Amino acid sequence: MSAADIVADCGATLEPLEAAANSAWWNANVNASDETQAQRSAADVALSNALADPDAFAALRAAQAERNGDPLVARQLDLLLQGFMPNQVDADLRRETIELQSDIESRFARHRGSVDGESLDDNAILEILRTSDDSARRQAAWEASKSVGAEVAPDVRELARLRNSAAQSLGYRDHFALALETTDFDEDRLFATLAEVDALTAAPFRDLKAELDAEVSTRFGVSVDAIRPWHYDDPFFQDAPSAIGVDLDPYLRDADLEALTVQTFAAMGLDVRGVISRSDLTPRAGKVQHAFCIDVDRIGDVRVLSNNTPGERWAETMLHEFGHAVYFEGVGRDLPWLLRTMHICLTEGIAMRCGRLVRDPQWLQQIVGLPASTVAGLAPRLRAASRAYLLIFARWVLVMTHFERGLYADPDDNHDARWWDLVERFQLVRRPDGRDAPDWAAKIHVAAAPVYYHNYLFGEMFASQLTATLGGLVDNTHAGHALAARVFAPGATLRWDHLVEAATGAPLTPAAFARELTN
Ligand SMILES: [Zn+2]
Repeated sequence: MSAADIVADCGATLEPLEAAANSAWWNANVNASDETQAQRSAADVALSNALADPDAFAALRAAQAERNGDPLVARQLDLLLQGFMPNQVDADLRRETIELQSDIESRFARHRGSVDGESLDDNAILEILRTSDDSARRQAAWEASKSVGAEVAPDVRELARLRNSAAQSLGYRDHFALALETTDFDEDRLFATLAEVDALTAAPFRDLKAELDAEVSTRFGVSVDAIRPWHYDDPFFQDAPSAIGVDLDPYLRDADLEALTVQTFAAMGLDVRGVISRSDLTPRAGKVQHAFCIDVDRIGDVRVLSNNTPGERWAETMLHEFGHAVYFEGVGRDLPWLLRTMHICLTEGIAMRCGRLVRDPQWLQQIVGLPASTVAGLAPRLRAASRAYLLIFARWVLVMTHFERGLYADPDDNHDARWWDLVERFQLVRRPDGRDAPDWAAKIHVAAAPVYYHNYLFGEMFASQLTATLGGLVDNTHAGHALAARVFAPGATLRWDHLVEAATGAPLTPAAFARELTN
């Protein structure tokens, strides 16, 4: 069989299995139950079984060794091998890993923290951290947000051991090394970039944090030394507190988020009405509390899950998720199925670029319709908020990436203490006195989206480089068309770093990101 035939055969086998797994994942998220959870695991196992096929894997390896002249066939071979390789492990180990991860995710979905005997969802806990001036109540809410960690931590460690067993049976140091290599990331270069971002952000972040702590100290009547994690708006301090920037809720309270989203993308020449009609956008019991966008079948069934309530947070989320959606929809339909996708850091980059619009003065004026004088008054605070968001998020990514590398290096290490060492080092947030708890395990990504977080930082760098190349996105059909042609249409025909270079004219570096920190 020719390489082209082998590739086509594998694609034909995987296409319906992936669509079934995506569909089961959607159902498990819009309607969490034992039944949808079991269907999701079964669909994941079926896809994993196909990717474990040793004969197909051997044929793919032989075809790759011959190096076919057709670049699209060669690219599909690379992607297939990246999908097949991690699955060439013991069937029981694969099933055990999938079921344990599913089970942990399900417990996250059902867990609710408790404050003063009252069970609270994530939105209610965030509301306390945003609004309460009572330190004791804030501390209780923060501790409630971490209670899921203690519940799942032993199983998350076990999941890391299982992932390592699989990676080591394939000759890798650990799961961290395997995950990077099968997503086209070189570990040394990744950590060199993280070190560069650390150096770029350290001083401006220290200044920003000092400014914030002065405000926090005044607000709560505590000395700067007595500030603890619950004095910030976000349980992980991964988002900019409104004290630093501007609270846009009063301006977005009456906005129709679906209409704003349609209008934002229409003004770029992109139509999202079809995706809106297939989406599930309102909060409801039995539905997960966050948001995502999924391309179910790579032929047009793109959907968004969101939990919209009026205000800035969900306006930003809608712009972010529909950024993913226009990318999925814009991938060339004439490409082979295997190439009708994209690298995670690229789709996160587009989503983050679109999410940033919520703090763009031009968006507030032209799309939301705020008076020019109001927007002019807000502009300096909007700039400060944008900069604070980038700084705070970059420092948070440093914590997550360093933490996960250490988790897989030795799942039995003292990660409870390591976590706080990293938080103190990168985020300058003091650990609670005498705290002895697995707070790292309360971050769902460690279990559900392992070795993923660096993609957000590379996404931010890509977003900044796109801004430097294309300018603003508001009411800019030229920029919309350029994104569609240069970024969306090629799908996965190019490796992610080559696509960035082709789309922006330069390799991806933190330079444009760094310029946004000094504006
Ligand atoms: Zn995203």
